[in-house]
Amino acid sequence: MQKIAILFLILCMSVGCTEQKIDATLLIKNVWVVDVKKGNLLAAKKDIWINGDRIVQIRDHKEQTKSNNEIIDGSGKYIIPGLWDMHAHPDDPEMWRMDPDEYSRDQLMPLFVRYGVTGIRDMAGSMEVIEKWRTKIRSKELVGPEIVACGPLIDGPNPMWDGSVGISDLSKVKPMVDSLKNSGADFLKIYSLLPDSIYFELSKYARQLDFPHVGHVPLTVTTAEASIAGMKSQEHLLNLLMDCSARADQLYAKEVDYGDITNPVDKYVYRNELMLDTYDEEKARTLYETFVKNETWHTPTISMWYKNAYFEQEILKDSIHFKYLPMYMRNYWKPENNDHLQNRLPKIIMVKKKLVEAYKERIGEMNTAGVGLLAGTDVGANPLCFPGLSLHYELQMLVESGLTPAEALRTATLNPALYFEKENVQGSVDEGKLADLVLLDANPLEDIENTKRINAVVLKGEVFDYERLQKELAMVERSVNR
Ligand SMILES: [Zn+2]
Repeated sequence: MQKIAILFLILCMSVGCTEQKIDATLLIKNVWVVDVKKGNLLAAKKDIWINGDRIVQIRDHKEQTKSNNEIIDGSGKYIIPGLWDMHAHPDDPEMWRMDPDEYSRDQLMPLFVRYGVTGIRDMAGSMEVIEKWRTKIRSKELVGPEIVACGPLIDGPNPMWDGSVGISDLSKVKPMVDSLKNSGADFLKIYSLLPDSIYFELSKYARQLDFPHVGHVPLTVTTAEASIAGMKSQEHLLNLLMDCSARADQLYAKEVDYGDITNPVDKYVYRNELMLDTYDEEKARTLYETFVKNETWHTPTISMWYKNAYFEQEILKDSIHFKYLPMYMRNYWKPENNDHLQNRLPKIIMVKKKLVEAYKERIGEMNTAGVGLLAGTDVGANPLCFPGLSLHYELQMLVESGLTPAEALRTATLNPALYFEKENVQGSVDEGKLADLVLLDANPLEDIENTKRINAVVLKGEVFDYERLQKELAMVERSVNR
C-alpha cells in the first residue's frame, strides 16, 4: 500500500495564485480534527497530508484541494489519534497452560487495529513471542499495533504465574534487572508477591539505570511508598482503597478484629466492607498529592474490574464477540478453567460490585486532583477483556467515573505519549507526528461511545478503510474457527 510520493498543486489563494507542492502519499480531506489537548474540535475542517508514516501538513479545507494519490473523504467525519491500550497482555503467561500455538496467537493482533488500537503496552509475556509479533508486523506479514513490552513479571520467590522471574534475595536484584534490560525489555513489571525489601532495592537500582519500573504495588508496600520509590505507573488501583482507609495500618498488618466471624468468605466480606466504610477523604487527598508530585501514572483497568464483578450478566451480551477469539483463549475464559472466576459466591460478588463503585469514585477524584490516568484493558487471561474492543469499554467506564469524554480520550492518546515521553511523535493529530489515526463517523467529544463508530484506521500511514477492517475481522474469524 505504500505509494510513491508525488508532487501536487493546491491552494489558489485570493492574493494571486500560490503554488504549493507537498510530497504526500495520502490525503484525508475535509475532516473535523479532535484536538485532544484542548478537548475540542479545531475551528475549521481540515485537509491532512500524510507522507509515508508521518503527518506532513494540516491546512484548512479547500474545495479545490487535489491529490493524485490516495484520498480519504473525511466529510462529516472526525479524526482522533490512534488509541493505545496501556495494559495489555495478549500473550498472557496465565494462558500458556492452554498451549496456544503461534498461528492462533497471531490472530489477536489484527483485532487491536480493527478497533483503532494502534499501540499497546504489553504488561507480561515472553519477549520471544513479542519479537516475533514485531517482526511480522514490521514486514507486513501480520496486521498489528506497535508494541512496547516488559517481558516476564518480577515476582517473589514463589511467583503467582508461569513465566515470571522470582527474586528470593537482595543479591539477585541487580543481575536480574541487568538481564531483563539486556533481553530487550522496555521496562520492568513488578508483581504482587515481591517482598517489600526486594522491591525497594530493585526500585533504587532501576532508578540508577534510568530504567522505568511499573506494575502491581506489592501486597506489603503502600501506593504512596511505591510512588516515592519511583514506580512510573501503578496498575489496577491495587492497594489504593486500603491506603484511603482510616484503618489502613490494621488492614496491612492483617490485625482486623473479626469478632466471632470464622468463615474465610465472611472474613473477606467483613475486611472489604471495613475498608470501604472507613474511607478517609483527607488521606485520599494527601495520597493523590503524592501521585501528582512524583508524576505517578495510574492505569485503573476499571472495565476489567467491572467485567469480573458482573461476569454472569456481561457474558450474555459479550458472547457475540467470542467468534473472533482463538479457541485457547475462549477456553481459558470458561469459569471452570479461569483463575479469576473462582469463588463466585453471591456474597463475594456483592463485595466485588461494591469495590467497582468505590474504584469509580476514586478515579473521578484522582482525575480532579490531576493524577495522570492511562487507559488499559488487561486483555489476555481476564474474561471479557477483548483485544481492541475493550479499550472502548474502558473509555466509557472512565467517563462513568467522572471524566469528560475529552479527558477519557486523552488517557488513550496524549497521556500515553506523555508517559512514553514521545509527545513529539504521537498523542495528537499534528504535523510531524506519526500517521496513526482513527476516523470516526460521529463526534467522540459529544458521546464517548462514538469512538466505536470507526470508519477507517490509518496505521503508520497505511489505510484500513471500513471494508478492509471488516475483511480483517472476517479473516480472523475464519482463522480461529478453521
Ligand atoms: Zn495485567
